[in-house]
Amino acid sequence: MVIVMRDNATEQQIKNAEQRLEKCGFKIHRVDGVTRTILGAIGDKRGIDMREFESLEGVYEVLRITEPYKLAGRTFHPDNSVIPVNGSAIGGDEIIVMAGPCSIESEEQLYTIAREVKKAGAKVLRGGAFKPRSSPYSFQGLGEEGLVFLSQITQELQMGAVSEVMEIKQLDTITRYVDIVQVGARNMQNFALLRELGRIKKPVLLKRGLSATIEELLMAAEYIMSEGNYSVILCERGIRTFENYTRNTMDLSAIPVVQSLSHLPIIADPSHGTGRRDQVVPMARAAVAAGANGLIIEVHHDPDHALSDGFQSLYPSQFQRMMEEIKTIAWAIGKTI
Ligand code: PEP
Ligand code: MN
Repeated sequence: MVIVMRDNATEQQIKNAEQRLEKCGFKIHRVDGVTRTILGAIGDKRGIDMREFESLEGVYEVLRITEPYKLAGRTFHPDNSVIPVNGSAIGGDEIIVMAGPCSIESEEQLYTIAREVKKAGAKVLRGGAFKPRSSPYSFQGLGEEGLVFLSQITQELQMGAVSEVMEIKQLDTITRYVDIVQVGARNMQNFALLRELGRIKKPVLLKRGLSATIEELLMAAEYIMSEGNYSVILCERGIRTFENYTRNTMDLSAIPVVQSLSHLPIIADPSHGTGRRDQVVPMARAAVAAGANGLIIEVHHDPDHALSDGFQSLYPSQFQRMMEEIKTIAWAIGKTI
């Protein structure tokens, strides 16, 4: 349930309400909005009369959260969440573009691509160091060595860094080097990993699973948030369908649906969403038009020799043109890039 405090509720009244809820066995999640404080109370409501909280001093109203995703839903947090990342903010009027290679292959490779995407306007550099590959014989990533390159290059170029974590045991290492920790599609329902991500102090980029419904995506976010980390950025990256012309089917309608259900920002990944270079730019433009809070795009200076996902990686020149195009689209809908 959600306890909405009055605009003028005192700190003491808020504390009193928190204590009463805790006594009843609820776990409290507090959000201090611009005008009022909201207390999310998660726990077993059986045998508890909600009216008891309505009469507390400073309480404006008590609402029942009917959605299964309590913290990720709009009842608990009506305003959009804006997540700061390295001097930028995801979830506001600015569209944040993350770009870079699928995998970090060498310092030189990452540096070459990073300079290009930075010049074109990307705010965050992507690059996988631990790679979830369909084949165990494919390149598995450089591991920590790759993260060192990512961290050094992003510091020099003043960009944010995002990279994927695959296992709990990588978490300590990865959080030392990146600004955003990515959870890949294949791990969206790795609940043990999600819980651990709920205990870190960095934003999490949570990608939609290959066959996950929107509700399952929001429930995965809920796992992270239930442990106290509210900085979750969702990502639509395409889902498995019967269609073979594309690697995945980019579900653009998920963007407005998520935005109506949840306060969390949602970005789009048209690289994995389509899997084909010629389809990435049109779907990037469409995602911005659909209201995505950002994009994550694979870019490679020599995609024919990329160690992963070369066929869906844009050339730097294509990426630069895409950035110009999406600026116009952003402007048309009252946003900036
Ligand atoms: C990636 O970002 O390179 C990646 C493996 O993404 P996904 O988990 O969406 O397949
Ligand atoms: Mn990839």
